[in-house]
Amino acid sequence: MREHDVSRLTAGELERTRRELAASLALAWPDSPIRAPIEAHITAIDAELAGRAVLRVCGCGLATDDDARMDGHLFESAGHQERDLSRYQELAVIVVDRP
Ligand SMILES: [Zn+2]
Repeated sequence: MREHDVSRLTAGELERTRRELAASLALAWPDSPIRAPIEAHITAIDAELAGRAVLRVCGCGLATDDDARMDGHLFESAGHQERDLSRYQELAVIVVDRP
């Protein structure tokens, strides 16, 4: 599997790449072998975005700078998704994206 060097991308580039990957994933058949590398790339982007954000925010509104608290919250709350803050910082717009 190819390395995903996402550390040099700007927040905007990460966001755009993630959106393109999500679109590709939506078009792939459920059992398509293309899904795994796409999902791995998305995971790499999410990890990079999460690493850059100081404050972490859940879709439900919970905000914390405590990684353990957020991870625990996401683990305990089925369906909750962490928000990507970098796009807010860069675009100053709240974008609600649902798959
Ligand atoms: Zn939540």
